[in-house]
Amino acid sequence: MQQKRKFGCGNFSIVGPVNDRLDRIGCARLMCNTYGCVRCLPKKLRRVRTRIAQIASEQKLLKFVTLTLDPKKIPQGVRSERYLRQTWRKMRVLLARRFGKSISSACWNFKNQV
Ligand SMILES: [Zn+2]
Repeated sequence: MQQKRKFGCGNFSIVGPVNDRLDRIGCARLMCNTYGCVRCLPKKLRRVRTRIAQIASEQKLLKFVTLTLDPKKIPQGVRSERYLRQTWRKMRVLLARRFGKSISSACWNFKNQV
């Protein structure tokens, strides 16, 4: 009886030249690269961090601001994530009107409060 192989990180990999250089051979995991995978997560986070730093330096983003929202201010029956995004959108418009520049990036960090 043939046993069906379960999907897992690294089960499907490709091997070939790195960056079209025939003297270097590398392998990459196929069909994974998700935030849920413990193997792929560190590499993915490193890539995201590097890209954020690159964009921030290109666009000369020099300020970092942390904003928090009091959970009591979220109206009943409204999803907190949607409310937060809507509020963020309004604030971007107000800042753009006042300072003439728009904020181009944001990192979201949702925490459950106990
Ligand atoms: Zn993976």
